[in-house]
Amino acid sequence: MPKETVMLSQNLNPFVQGVLKDDYELVTMPEGGPGALGEKAADIRAVVAFGGFSGVEMDALPNLEIIACPGVGYDGIDTSHAAERGIIVTHTPNVLNDEVADTAIALLLNAVRRLYAAERYLREGRWETEGSFPLSPFSVKGRKVGLYGLGRIGLEIASRLEPFKVDISYHTRSPKKGVDYAYHPTLASLAEAVDTLICIVPKTPETHKVVNAEILSALGPDGILVNVGRGWSVDEDALIAALEAGTIGGAGLDVFYEEPHVPEKLRGFDNVSLLPHVASASVPTRQGMAQLVADNLKGWFAEGRPVTPVPETPVPPKA
Ligand code: NDP
Repeated sequence: MPKETVMLSQNLNPFVQGVLKDDYELVTMPEGGPGALGEKAADIRAVVAFGGFSGVEMDALPNLEIIACPGVGYDGIDTSHAAERGIIVTHTPNVLNDEVADTAIALLLNAVRRLYAAERYLREGRWETEGSFPLSPFSVKGRKVGLYGLGRIGLEIASRLEPFKVDISYHTRSPKKGVDYAYHPTLASLAEAVDTLICIVPKTPETHKVVNAEILSALGPDGILVNVGRGWSVDEDALIAALEAGTIGGAGLDVFYEEPHVPEKLRGFDNVSLLPHVASASVPTRQGMAQLVADNLKGWFAEGRPVTPVPETPVPPKA
C-alpha cells in the first residue's frame, strides 16, 4: 500500500521526523509555504505544524484532513478555519504536564530565593573575593500562591506546591469540581488575596495582557509573578515598571510577549529568573510529544479516530 504523505512545517520537535519516517512519505514545508509545493500539494492529507498554520496555508492543501500540533498550546493554528473545512486539529496534552510543572516550581524557587543571581555570583568568582552572597529577602514557606489556570498543568503545579507549606488558591472561569483550593471568580480578587501568582492559561482573546499594573500591584512588594503559560497574558511594560518601582518583589518567566525577543530591561533584574521557553524541553518529554503526534496520525488514518483532537475540531461520530 502506498504511504500517506505528511507535510512537516519548519522548526519542529526534532523527534517528530524519527517517529514518522518509517510509516509516511515526509515532505518539508517549503520556505514559500505549502502553495510552493505545486502538484504535490494534492497528495498531502496530514500536516505536522508547530507555532502556527493559517487558513491560507490550509487552503493551499485541497485534500488536507488533519493538522497535528506537537504541543499542548495550539493558539497559532487557525482552528475556526480548520473546523469550517472539516479539518481535524490535534495537540499533545498531558505528556508534558510534569515537565512544565517542574519548571514552574524551579522558576518560583529561583525568583523567591534569587538562586540564579547567587549562582552567577559564584561563577564570577565573587564568593572568594567579596564574601557571602546577600540574603534573599523572601522565603517560599508561608506564601499565598494563586494559580491563574488550574487545568492539566495547573493541577500538577498545585500538587507540587503542597509540600512547600504554602496556601493555594486559584482563578479559572468556573470552579473545578473535586478541588479544595479556594476559588476566586476574578483574577483581581485572586491577586488581592495572594502574594505569588503562577500563570498557566492558554493564549486566547480573553487572556491578553490581563496580568497588568493593577494585578501586579495587588500582589504587593513581596509579590512574585511566575509565567509558564504564554507571554501574551502579561503586560511586559507594566511588569518592568512594577519591578523598577519595587511594586512587586520578583518574577520567573519561561514565556514572553514576542519570542524570542526578551526586553533588555527584564534581563537586567537580579530578582527575575528568565528561561527561553524550555518548560517542556527535555528529551523524554519531547519524545513523548512526538509519539503522541504519531499516535494521532495513526488513529486518524487507521480508523478516523485521533487520540487527542482539540475541542474546536471535534471528530465526527462514526456513521
Ligand atoms: P488546560 O486547558 O488543561 O488548562 C487551562 C486552564 O486555564 C483551565 O484551568 C481553564 O479553566 C483556564 N482558563 C482558560 N481560559 C481562561 C480565562 N479566560 N480565564 C481564566 N482561566 C482560564 O491547559 P494546560 O494546563 O494543558 O496548558 C495550559 C497552557 O499552558 C497551554 O495552553 C499553553 O499555552 C501553555 N503551555 C506552555 C508551555 C511552555 O513551554 N511554557 C508548555 C505547555 C503548555 P476554565 O476553562 O474553567 O476557565
